[in-house]
Amino acid sequence: MRQRKFALIHRLPRLADQLSGTLTRSYTRCGKPTCRCVHGKGHAAWSLTYMIQGRRHVERIPAQWAEEVERRVAAGRELQDAVKEVLAANVQLLVLAKQQENKGKKRKK
Ligand SMILES: [Zn+2]
Repeated sequence: MRQRKFALIHRLPRLADQLSGTLTRSYTRCGKPTCRCVHGKGHAAWSLTYMIQGRRHVERIPAQWAEEVERRVAAGRELQDAVKEVLAANVQLLVLAKQQENKGKKRKK
């Protein structure tokens, strides 16, 4: 268990430019009657939805940033999952430590 914990910590991604939130793509029509978007799906528009202190924010993302932001959001999710795994391992170690202490007490009696 302890070894697994150290392995998890070793694999932990470095805290860098990860982002929280979700990137979503939607389509909008610009409203110009001569634009090609009148017939198609519309213009792709990207937005990043994120939470700050319990409040939801939405930020428009320029199309040329979308790929990079998507990568950073995915990296952020990976980091969160990895941290959760380490914290879960810590809880299991705590439980094990408690069990061991109880065993020790019983032996003394
Ligand atoms: Zn248009």
